[in-house]
Amino acid sequence: MYFSVTDYYDPIGTKQIPSKCPGCGTSNCLELQFHQKRIETAFSKKITSNVSGKLFCDNTQSEIAPVVWTDEIEQYYLNEKSILKLQPKRLSFTKWFYILLMLPLSIISVVIGYNVFGQNDYESESEAIEQVSVGDKIMVLYTTTDSANVIDNGNTWFLVKKIDADSIWVQRHKVFATEGDANFDLATSKFTEETLKASLKQFKTRGLFGHDYPAQKFSGYITTLIK
Ligand SMILES: [Zn+2]
Repeated sequence: MYFSVTDYYDPIGTKQIPSKCPGCGTSNCLELQFHQKRIETAFSKKITSNVSGKLFCDNTQSEIAPVVWTDEIEQYYLNEKSILKLQPKRLSFTKWFYILLMLPLSIISVVIGYNVFGQNDYESESEAIEQVSVGDKIMVLYTTTDSANVIDNGNTWFLVKKIDADSIWVQRHKVFATEGDANFDLATSKFTEETLKASLKQFKTRGLFGHDYPAQKFSGYITTLIK
């Protein structure tokens, strides 16, 4: 991120002095000018106590460098500087400072909110899957395999037909969607495809694996459960 820091010198007083000018030799042509330093960034504004003074000759319209100042000029300078009314030293912040300060906080709360919401969703879903009962319908990311080869994969639904001991029997929906979102009619009459016997233990951890197939003909990940 790029932002600039700018120094400003605000005029805070001038004083005509009668000393003879070290530049042009004329009298009554000198003016002391005082400035107070202010530092501004996109995010803050700081009035410092830093005061600078310069000597200006009205006759030649030029600045007289401090190295050529006489002791008298120096004395005027110090006296004048000591009685200047400075702007109070102050640090203030621009709206950008507050926006920048708030931004990470709001991003964090959005992220936390999203995660908590997502997490809750996931947990309540997992809980429902753990307490599966006959008649429930589950959506599954499903892969059928032929020995080591994936034959097909996609989304489909299963209807829970029976639960017994460590096994669960589910019957597949007639629609097997290999791409995109299909419209599933979840009426019980639509579950007409093969019935699979799967591991109940794995089912409860969202896995749908046949445990009576030596060659593991299918596997699935349960994404949703509807009571
Ligand atoms: Zn001069």
